[in-house]
Amino acid sequence: MASVNENYLKLQGSYLFQTIAKKVDAYTKAHPEAKIIRLGIGDVTRPIVPAIVEAMHKAVDEMGKAETFRGYGPEQGYEFLREAIVKGDFKSRGVDIDPGEVFVSDGAKTDSACIQEIFGSDLKFAVSDPVYPVYLDSNIMFGHTGPWNEAKGTYDGVVYLPCSPENGFKPVPPKEKVDLVYLCNPSNPTGTAMTKEELGSWVDYARREKVVLIYDAAYEAYITETSVPHTIYEIEGAKDVAIELRSYSKCAGFTGVRCSYVIVPHALVAYKKDGTAVELNPLWNRRQGTFTNGTAYIIQRAAEAYYSEEGHKECMADVDYYMTNAHIIRDGLKAAGFTVYGATNSPYAWIETPKGMKSWELFDLLLEKANVVTTPGSGFGPHGEGYLRLTAFGTRENTEEAVKRIQALHLIQ
Ligand SMILES: *Cc1c(COP(=O)(O)O)cnc(C)c1O
Repeated sequence: MASVNENYLKLQGSYLFQTIAKKVDAYTKAHPEAKIIRLGIGDVTRPIVPAIVEAMHKAVDEMGKAETFRGYGPEQGYEFLREAIVKGDFKSRGVDIDPGEVFVSDGAKTDSACIQEIFGSDLKFAVSDPVYPVYLDSNIMFGHTGPWNEAKGTYDGVVYLPCSPENGFKPVPPKEKVDLVYLCNPSNPTGTAMTKEELGSWVDYARREKVVLIYDAAYEAYITETSVPHTIYEIEGAKDVAIELRSYSKCAGFTGVRCSYVIVPHALVAYKKDGTAVELNPLWNRRQGTFTNGTAYIIQRAAEAYYSEEGHKECMADVDYYMTNAHIIRDGLKAAGFTVYGATNSPYAWIETPKGMKSWELFDLLLEKANVVTTPGSGFGPHGEGYLRLTAFGTRENTEEAVKRIQALHLIQ
């Protein structure tokens, strides 16, 4: 008799985006003339830049000729891309990373869900609340949590790191003992970012407590303030305690192209039950070698082109475009009286609902009265209740129009 992985049955329907789609669908059916503006999506809208398209075309042509055809590539990624990453993302920031510490993959979603496989099955982890849902959901599926606790609205056995106005929506180390901590910096959904100093206290904590940090830097390209580090390895000692996840999805528009990478430093260890330290890099190498044949050659050439002078310039122009949208949302809603967080080092604005409204109440109101789609903060964790996430990934025109419509509602006197 085949038994199921009952951990899957613990999952509470996180039907956030489906619920949003249903509500928007119902509204459009009832009001076909409504001009809906979507500031809810966490997906980019600008097309792939010319330098990257050109690199992909060239790689496609190579695949069509016997002399340049490529079959299976190295599971860790091609040397040309790992070298480009080391130079473009780390050396440029004064950080030395060895190409053997880089593992190219097909998405940070995959990486953030799978990285836990190299840790003990009885691991205890901490996550920010609210946060990108993949860290928590994947750990539930791997059996690293207790059941859903209806009364508390949380999963038993999980250490939640509440993010609120009191800590500037920046998580602080827990008192409880944990093995792994997931950090997303700059944060999705709150758009806030920890400074070098704040991240430094996480690294100190991790070194002291022998904790491993899983550091998701998917929004690194959106950092504008010099106090915010672009990689955790800018912090002294971080290589001993941190795995960094990077993605080309938000910086180069690869949400449909698919490419990412993981840094597992040679210096990073975890422990056997008898206390012996074990290097994690060879474990992740083995895991990748066994579970995957890597990312397509064409896509790795595309990612390489992100580091070319032209490619980088073009991608940063798109990032700037989104960031201008972010500022329009942030400043426009502040002017309307809203309390707004984020949108300075990330494409997300995190707004407090007025008069103690629930996230979904304000979501419905903005959909019906302004025809603007947002994302309820409560979908990202219990401490997201009372907030909405607005994204800067729309067009300039729609972003300006949406802000005007929200301002015209005069929700805050
Ligand atoms: C968008 C996003 C990613 C990127 O995932 P991909 O699978 O690389 O597209 C990773 N982490 C966070 C927090 C994100 O918001």
